[in-house]
Amino acid sequence: MTKILLVEDEPKMQQVIKDNLELEGYDVALAGDGKTGLKDILENSYSLILLDVMLPEMSGFDVCRKAREKGIVTPVIFLTAKGEEIDKVLGLELGADDYITKPFGVRELLARTKAVLRRTEGSASGPAEKLTLGSVEIDFRTYTASRDGVALPMTPKEFELLKFLWQHRNQVVSRDQLLTNVWGYDETISTRTIDNFILRLRQKIEKNPAKPQRIITIHGLGYKLIA
Ligand code: CA
Repeated sequence: MTKILLVEDEPKMQQVIKDNLELEGYDVALAGDGKTGLKDILENSYSLILLDVMLPEMSGFDVCRKAREKGIVTPVIFLTAKGEEIDKVLGLELGADDYITKPFGVRELLARTKAVLRRTEGSASGPAEKLTLGSVEIDFRTYTASRDGVALPMTPKEFELLKFLWQHRNQVVSRDQLLTNVWGYDETISTRTIDNFILRLRQKIEKNPAKPQRIITIHGLGYKLIA
């Protein structure tokens, strides 16, 4: 399911947007201030972020800037108030994908949301869809992988696990984060399952799986993908 994070402090606005996105089949997470929003963005994996500009704790612009600095490439649509013309331009310079001016209609919001998702999820050569690790190439759009030009069989779960690591590349990702984001709250999965998946992934993508250089273990914390 496509997961969208809505960072918005007005309860009424939150509810209207959430309800309408859910009616369209999206999975919507909520954050009510900038700090919480940024934390959510760094710890989870979303397809899109709807980001209000005027937020308690930290502005939407700062949230976006900090997320981009951390290597998060998730598309962002800013929700701006009327008259924030200069802010709009600034917003796009920050690496936002679009903006919508309040008050907006639900139809407009859904149209913009779909357009951005189509652009980012559907682009064949988009930087967010392909990963090259030495001689290994992974295409997350088609769920195909190759090593030295030879097809590399991988399960959908392995793709999802690798994609999450890649979306948080060069950062430490905890087993709990992987459990929540890749497996969901499936009680039959233990952190040992994750370790086994990591071992299998290493066998597929590492030159020497015994001495991993791509997916490294950060003792006591989790894993880090070096890319
Ligand atoms: Ca606001």
